[in-house]
Amino acid sequence: MQPETKLNNRLLKGISYLWQIPQNLLGLGVIFFSRAKPGEGIKPYWATKANFGVSLGKYIISNSGDKTTLLHEAGHQKQSLMLGPLYLMIVGLPSISGNIWDRLFHKSWSWKKREIWYYSLPWEKWADKLGGVERFTK
Ligand SMILES: [Zn+2]
Repeated sequence: MQPETKLNNRLLKGISYLWQIPQNLLGLGVIFFSRAKPGEGIKPYWATKANFGVSLGKYIISNSGDKTTLLHEAGHQKQSLMLGPLYLMIVGLPSISGNIWDRLFHKSWSWKKREIWYYSLPWEKWADKLGGVERFTK
């Protein structure tokens, strides 16, 4: 690789990290408090014993190595790159609210019905699309 290309790549990485700084900082906080460890294979990926999957800036923190989950979170990562400082407002907050709503009010629903409801929410549907997730094909 040419030295200028290397420098440009580093610069781009730095700029993209700063562009997503609110969710990057939050991601580091979640990693710290959930004691997540760096994952193997797909990077950046952090495995944890906690019962959640979240994409914050360059960090994906999840207890699942499931392909669909990872692709979905990669979709959120793309949203973060596009939205930068607006990500938490447009995707983060609605996503957490939807998650809490589902856990509180859909206890009697079937797993399938809950999944369909959750991933029909516009910001989740968008993440699936960006990640190339094919859900509910049958
Ligand atoms: Zn999601």
